[in-house]
Amino acid sequence: MADDIRLYLFDTGILKCNYHDIYLNGADEPFEIPVPFFLITHPKGNVVIDGGTPVECATDAAGHWGKVAEFFTPVMTPEQGCVAQLTAMGIAPESVRHVVLSHLHLDHVGAVGRFPGATHVVQRVEWEYAHAPDWFARAAYVRKDFDRPDLDWLILENSWGDFYDLYGDGSIVLIRSPGHTCGHQSILVRTSAGASVLLAVDAADTMDHFEEKALPGALHSAIEVVRSVKKLRAVQQREGALVIAGHDSKQWAELRKAPDFY
Ligand SMILES: [Zn+2]
Repeated sequence: MADDIRLYLFDTGILKCNYHDIYLNGADEPFEIPVPFFLITHPKGNVVIDGGTPVECATDAAGHWGKVAEFFTPVMTPEQGCVAQLTAMGIAPESVRHVVLSHLHLDHVGAVGRFPGATHVVQRVEWEYAHAPDWFARAAYVRKDFDRPDLDWLILENSWGDFYDLYGDGSIVLIRSPGHTCGHQSILVRTSAGASVLLAVDAADTMDHFEEKALPGALHSAIEVVRSVKKLRAVQQREGALVIAGHDSKQWAELRKAPDFY
């Protein structure tokens, strides 16, 4: 059992935001979204995806994020921090070999620097853009959460291709899916139980976005969003995968959460 490849779903609570942050040209009204993160157990080393909102935000969001916390307001407890939830489930921080970052937005970097043996995996394009974002994109990048040259990083080059097989066995495949940000990646997970799960993350904020019914309110390139969704839809159809959207409260409520797994 210890060698099983399993996918566990967690969240670090919710973010209060605005409906039009999620739906382009949507209504100007309060909205709440879940902030998921994921653990994949693997015999070659456990993998954490994203890690959600940094735990410091549970006690002092304004102090940690600054002014952006007025527009993206985390609602979480310290117990909902990424490390606390994994530890509570008996996952030792030392057992985490990789932290895979879908992108470097503020609600996706909660695992950075929290696992002493981990290599952090990010796309080169995301890494470079996050260090010099354009004005409209600046608020969503909180530099101190990822500007950590002291950590071990695996920077994925564009020339390596659209698909990166993390352990070489097809169980965890990183898929370039730019659009929401210029260096976004999604993750295809194939588990020992036979599940195939496509973590779209913010390549599709909700299933409306995955089903080509909406564009996201926060985006780098609308065309890239559309083409990445096309690519992920092709992967989904080929795999028969369960797709998990990035911040879909309705879907999230219906999914299997840790300690249950896929
Ligand atoms: Zn997000």
